[in-house]
Amino acid sequence: MTTSRRWQAVTDGILRWVGSPVDVNCILVRGDRLALLVDTGSTREEGMELRRAVAVELGRQELAVVNTHAHYDHCFGNSAFSESTIYASEGCLTTLQRSGTSQQREAAESFREEDPEFAARLGAAPIVLPNRPVDQEARLDLGGIEAHLRVMGRGHTDHDLVVVLPDLGTVLAGDLVEESGPPALEDSYPLSWARVLGRLLALAPKLVVPGHGRVVGPEFVARQQEQLAQAASWCLGELGMGPRVPQPPMPFPPAALGTALDRAKLELSIGPSSAPVHQAPEDAFP
Ligand SMILES: [Zn+2]
Repeated sequence: MTTSRRWQAVTDGILRWVGSPVDVNCILVRGDRLALLVDTGSTREEGMELRRAVAVELGRQELAVVNTHAHYDHCFGNSAFSESTIYASEGCLTTLQRSGTSQQREAAESFREEDPEFAARLGAAPIVLPNRPVDQEARLDLGGIEAHLRVMGRGHTDHDLVVVLPDLGTVLAGDLVEESGPPALEDSYPLSWARVLGRLLALAPKLVVPGHGRVVGPEFVARQQEQLAQAASWCLGELGMGPRVPQPPMPFPPAALGTALDRAKLELSIGPSSAPVHQAPEDAFP
């Protein structure tokens, strides 16, 4: 596979393109018949740049797109791919319909001083909704590579979808796993997140591509799972629902723990999720 400057090889058949200024991982998986682009960047301009880089790799080969979740850096580049099939969880679709524009306003505002040009592009990005919602799981035959799109339950958001590639021993995890920074808790379900990572680890992947940062192995995911489990125990102790435990060490600064606590309260108040969740890792990697 020839590669343009922006692509980095993850393993055979998988390339990684890193966004800027937000370092989101956009991943290209190339089968013999169909290619899959997982996440589209933050703005229309970034999406168009990605589209050009994809075209260099694929020529005229058919492309389908996946959004792992509704955060702007993973799906506001969709307008560059509006003629493609765009898969996402049903929760991703409804979240974008409900709060896409308010998220856009807040995100653009947060960059206004630091990077006004990016803020303007972010604020002007047309929000193109996914057109192929996934209830629980969708299986795609890319030609020589199977891709299983799975809704994983509450974690980084209430609608995270991962792409499992059993033939390549790889999971594309979206922001359920983050390498370049601590797990982002703002829309999270901190009491459930570690369990979701347990389901991901039960697949026994060799490689996990996080939503941000370098490709990792299962040991890294297990460490992040432990950190999230510690944060959950701390929250339960603070809320009088479990033994009090010391504040978990980094990667969680005090402000993040405050966010975790607020989200844990919300999670307890809304009760168990009624959304379907893929439970069975019946096709764990060989
Ligand atoms: Zn996110």
